[in-house]
Amino acid sequence: MKPKNRIYCASSGRSKLLFATEKKALTYLKFNYDEILQENGIAPIRAYYCECCMGWHTTHIMEGNHIEQRIEKEWTEYEELEKWRAEQNAKRKAIEAEEKKKHKLHNDAIYNKITELIEQARWQHIANDKDLAVKSLTDALAMLVDVKKISGLNLKKFTTKRKEIEYLLTLYKHD
Ligand SMILES: [Zn+2]
Repeated sequence: MKPKNRIYCASSGRSKLLFATEKKALTYLKFNYDEILQENGIAPIRAYYCECCMGWHTTHIMEGNHIEQRIEKEWTEYEELEKWRAEQNAKRKAIEAEEKKKHKLHNDAIYNKITELIEQARWQHIANDKDLAVKSLTDALAMLVDVKKISGLNLKKFTTKRKEIEYLLTLYKHD
């Protein structure tokens, strides 16, 4: 049964079901408790009279009537705060993902350029242009400084490239 008698209760600061009598509220609890619990993980356990709405509400809070409305209000505020937190979290994650994508593109470009320079150095070395080959390798080495060191990006391949460049440098310099 999906009740339609939902109103905004100013006293608790949230939308609530309103019943004309306590009996009607309890009947609703009796027949809907299991379904609500299954759907929401929490279900109203009792009814109370609301002076503000001049009728009966249901609540999942076990406390006595006198602090009822305050707790309901705090619960609403807590839910709103949680919602806000979740939204902020989602925003932050989206920004981080965007940043990471940007850094990855940046690093990929550097990686390609370094690979090109190493290849170039090899040809220069073969052509006996030793100084040019060393310069290409030195340029490649200098490019490694601009690699963005963000966790989650593959940085291992840059360490491998550095070792390769350093090895070729010692090789070419001592020819
Ligand atoms: Zn009310």
